[in-house]
Amino acid sequence: MTSQRTRERLLGRLMDQGIHSMEVLDVIRSTPRHVFLDEALSHRAYEDVALPIGFNQTISQPYVVARMTEALLTTGPMNRVLEIGTGCGYQTSVLAQLSKAVFTVERIKPLQEKARKILRLIGLRNIEFKHDDGTQGWADRGLYDAIMTTAAPQSIPQELLHQLADGGRLIIPVGGENDQELTLVTRSGDEFSSQVLDVVRFVPLLHGKL
Ligand code: SAH
Repeated sequence: MTSQRTRERLLGRLMDQGIHSMEVLDVIRSTPRHVFLDEALSHRAYEDVALPIGFNQTISQPYVVARMTEALLTTGPMNRVLEIGTGCGYQTSVLAQLSKAVFTVERIKPLQEKARKILRLIGLRNIEFKHDDGTQGWADRGLYDAIMTTAAPQSIPQELLHQLADGGRLIIPVGGENDQELTLVTRSGDEFSSQVLDVVRFVPLLHGKL
């Protein structure tokens, strides 16, 4: 069901869970999450759950998308944003509506191609795609005001830190298969300070590309 009522129910739930940014809530409200899912699952698009998108990957839970986006948006500029793990492109679409330019890297080619099509279809043009292992970031396009990783490494890839602009923030789940610490790292000159925001569960950040 894609009715306004089911979408509003999701918004209420996000607010109850502590999402305050009206900008983030408005973008989630107006983004059609169902178009990123296979038809068989699209009736569940406005439930606050992660769902399968094929290749053993998932579309992130709306609460986690909102939480990560809010953490970046409320802490500094969002002109140039790097995303590692395009997946189905839902998080990409949220970022693209809140920033000038999004650079997104995905290691699984068919997922990347599908995401590219859908994002074009819904009219978002400020996104550049790269099919690669994103552990090394995307150095040619950096530096970035914000970097978001939507798959979990065991420890923070140092290269991502190097691609942050001064004042830039990295949001990334860190840890093993089950529970990871959602970590916000802020760059100030050559100093990096980090803060754990939440416990989350993402698919692992893997090496190499498919
Ligand atoms: N952002 C998505 C969720 C993606 S799931 C959403 O909006 O719902 C995580 C994605 O990260 C998967 O598509 C997976 O293939 C990708 N991924 C895992 N390791 C990666 C790596 N090293 N480089 C780029 N993408 C990676």
